[in-house]
Amino acid sequence: MAHILIVEDEPAIAELVAMNLRHDGHDVRIAGHADEAQRSVQAELPDLVLLDWMLPGEPGISLARRWRADARTRQMPIVMLTARSQESDVVQGLDVGADDYLAKPFSTAELLARIRAVLRRKAPESLDTAVQVGPLKLDPTTMRVQAPSGAVHLGPTEFRLLRYLMTYPERVHSRSQLLDRVWGDHVFIEERTVDVHIKRLRDALADTGCATMIETVRGAGYRLAKPALASQAG
Ligand code: CA
Repeated sequence: MAHILIVEDEPAIAELVAMNLRHDGHDVRIAGHADEAQRSVQAELPDLVLLDWMLPGEPGISLARRWRADARTRQMPIVMLTARSQESDVVQGLDVGADDYLAKPFSTAELLARIRAVLRRKAPESLDTAVQVGPLKLDPTTMRVQAPSGAVHLGPTEFRLLRYLMTYPERVHSRSQLLDRVWGDHVFIEERTVDVHIKRLRDALADTGCATMIETVRGAGYRLAKPALASQAG
């Protein structure tokens, strides 16, 4: 499930898209203008923004430009919607850093496919896709984790943490990045909370032989290593 913010001033379009996204299993918020969108993003960073170009007041393109200039929202996936279809506008939309671009009128099926493609590329942990790294298999739809030795029982936070680490194997994540992506960046929690949950995760994996896949990277954070590359020290 992805958290998606729709920025659209035409209620009929916003509601239609929202209905379809909810049907697809996503959590949807709607903002009717730039200020409302900005407040919504400040309160909670969405996994993706569907952004209309033509809005009352500040246009979508300007909002996209501001988000791209801000460290917190720089990576936030943006799909732009617009009634304009001239090539120069498409170029401008992509220039400010929109991840994709769709001209109105659009088919809902195409919009949903484009959104899924952007999420797969930029926020794969928000999709209910099963992941496997080495001998570990994780299925978000059933909330199950499977190791060769059997099922692994995890608490909800450890499950989300493992899922995030498995989605980006080999990548080093700082504690603050893990807090943002696993706990949500609107939540204020101490960084050492991450250490507590990493320990619980390693404990839960102890009997599977997979605990050493979760590596501490000194001074940087944590990484899930593929088994062939996992260090013996863990
Ligand atoms: Ca509009």
